[in-house]
Amino acid sequence: MTDPLTVSVLGTGIMGAAMARNLARAGHTVRAWNRTRDKAEPLAADGAVVADTPAEAVQGADVVLTMLYDGAAVLEVMRQAAPALSPGTAWVQSTTAGIDAIGELSELAGEHGLVFFDAPVLGTKQPAEAGQLLVLAAGPSKSRDAVTPVFDAVGARTVWTGEDGAAGSATRLKLVANSWVIAATNATGEVLALAKALGVDPQGFFDAIAGGPLDMGYLRVKAGLILNDQLTPASFAVSTAAKDARLIVEAGRQNGVRLDVANAGAERLARAAAQGHGDEDMAAAYFASFDEETDA
Ligand code: NAP
Repeated sequence: MTDPLTVSVLGTGIMGAAMARNLARAGHTVRAWNRTRDKAEPLAADGAVVADTPAEAVQGADVVLTMLYDGAAVLEVMRQAAPALSPGTAWVQSTTAGIDAIGELSELAGEHGLVFFDAPVLGTKQPAEAGQLLVLAAGPSKSRDAVTPVFDAVGARTVWTGEDGAAGSATRLKLVANSWVIAATNATGEVLALAKALGVDPQGFFDAIAGGPLDMGYLRVKAGLILNDQLTPASFAVSTAAKDARLIVEAGRQNGVRLDVANAGAERLARAAAQGHGDEDMAAAYFASFDEETDA
């Protein structure tokens, strides 16, 4: 590998912890911080230094990686961390933050002389753990060498979408991809809810579409989680998907397109969260089809 870097990972939830672990395993010095420290502690076994504050975590960083819930969380945390960073440090922003937030975050980067990379990822918990994410990235060519080792450690491939991180071209692609992911997840939940209501064995549906163009690995995976009661631990939680669905609807609205399916999907996810399924896998949007709590 190239020279080891010091990489500060802010946010060690489902995705951030897996990414931090792969960075440490690739030989980089990892300094990790998480609001709930307990979630970062296990990374010490992989050689990571667990810090008490964002500012402490970014001491000596070559690259800062943010992987938090949303844009507001990133802004809050990076406002604490940025003053402790040297100008010229690369900031890889991988949280799915939405287009508006990318503008605010890149502005903050500019105020502190940081080189901003808009770098959301495709892939969920398991690909994150395997270092097989697809990194979507926008940022200046002249500074890419500084972050390539980070992308190589967490991902199987990097797709460069533009020169200017502030323009949010990578985030735009991420929102498009997630609109498909969330639509497919919600459709899966409704298929199973309708089958249940009509007294149709879901297996009969799977057998009917098997091997044809309507069949889909993702349908099988998400349906399996519902039917086999495997909604925890989540790969991608209902509450996080609800946040993404809102970002997608808002991006469509601001850019003049109606997204009725995404809007309904956002409502289903919000309803499932209100029913108490917020921390379960987003497949639990299935429960939004029922007025009362029901067993899958
Ligand atoms: P997660 O496990 O819920 O982690 C969220 C992280 O954000 C936690 O570290 C949490 O800290 C932190 N956080 C939330 N609000 C905060 C605040 N106000 N201040 C400081 N920290 C805060 O979620 P995840 O699945 O890893 O997702 C992280 C990001 O990646 C999200 O933007 C998500 O959309 C995106 N993403 C997720 C997937 C996926 O499949 N899971 C795939 C691609 C992209 P605590 O531990 O203290 O709560």
